[in-house]
Amino acid sequence: MKNTFRIPFASRSHNYTKSEINNVVKVMREAKTLTQGPYLKKFEENFSKFIGSKYCFAVNSATSALELSAQLCLLKKGDEVIIPSHTYTSSAYPFIKTGAKIVWCDIDPKTRVINESMIKKCLTKKTKVIVAPHLYGFCIDMPPIIKLAKKNKILVVEDVAQAIGTSIRNKKAGTFGDFGIYSFHSHKNITTLGEGGMLVVKNKSHADIVPMLRHNGHCDFKYTRKKYWIPAMGNVDLPSLQNNKLIPHNFCIGEVECALGNHLLTRVNRINNLKQKRALYIIDSLKQYEQLEFHRVKSERHNYHLLVALEKGGKRDKFIETMSREERIQCVVQYYPLNRYALYEKLGFSRANCPNADYFFDNMISFPFQATLTDNEIELIIKSTKKVIKKIY
Ligand SMILES: *Cc1c(COP(=O)(O)O)cnc(C)c1O
Repeated sequence: MKNTFRIPFASRSHNYTKSEINNVVKVMREAKTLTQGPYLKKFEENFSKFIGSKYCFAVNSATSALELSAQLCLLKKGDEVIIPSHTYTSSAYPFIKTGAKIVWCDIDPKTRVINESMIKKCLTKKTKVIVAPHLYGFCIDMPPIIKLAKKNKILVVEDVAQAIGTSIRNKKAGTFGDFGIYSFHSHKNITTLGEGGMLVVKNKSHADIVPMLRHNGHCDFKYTRKKYWIPAMGNVDLPSLQNNKLIPHNFCIGEVECALGNHLLTRVNRINNLKQKRALYIIDSLKQYEQLEFHRVKSERHNYHLLVALEKGGKRDKFIETMSREERIQCVVQYYPLNRYALYEKLGFSRANCPNADYFFDNMISFPFQATLTDNEIELIIKSTKKVIKKIY
């Protein structure tokens, strides 16, 4: 179908300011290196200040950060990893590569993310890792999950790809667990030219390894060399954890993206606030219609990366179809339960007991909600939604 939507579900979340564009061009012209330079260092320092955690490593995507965290969990065959079935695919598959067994966890029907009691149902003696995606931009209630994990010697990976800047009890999402993962993909609340990510680690032992894992195992020689070029420019090594199971990658991000990231960190809160203000406005404007159930949160726990509703009148597809055909507004459906995807079925992970996730997916609507929407377009979404509800119910 030709895209004739008045409001498409855009693949780009925000525009760039003049000073961001000027800065990018300046770095293109003047940077002495285009990767692994001062802008990377600055981006990691600024991110560390923003998030309130010491060890931050910029990478080329959140998926790369998830790959690194999965690797650093040092999983063995038979170990179990708890992951909600209701999340994006790359929250899960890096863990499958380790040989571990995925145990699909259900979501809380109200918040649409996992919680302590859902995790408890999946817990066994073999559980080694919990992956906690702060989906839609809503910060999971982490403290009880961390307590449970500590008690059972379980590592926690927070997938904060959608929830940058959110917090609970004055602590930012991604700083509770052993690993925090952020995305600067084109869709997310801030984007470093389409791709980018950050890995935050809690332990120094992990922090010492990440730069090498990220960049082909490159490191300095541990001894002083008389001639700087001999035996080689630099060493290639990795700590021999688990019989050298840690094989490196190239997950580096360029200097231009990092320079832009530094600018975006100064306005991510503004973008988050705008999205929250608009989400609450839309939710409140539609509150008389009980067919749509939104998750209304007026606090720093939600950045409304996405605006989603549960359709309760049994007419989800009719709603999306009418919005699309008659109002030309492109709503979509998100987070196909991972256990239902062909890939996970083939890999042997089709079994799941996640009725809330299945029900939510089968009845949910995700509205176009990119930050580039104008105030008029927000009004149009409200007006069209009302019109469609009156028409189809
Ligand atoms: C977008 C997203 C990712 C992947 O991010 P990339 O930077 O594109 O690799 C992972 N998890 C969740 C929950 C996401 O929304």
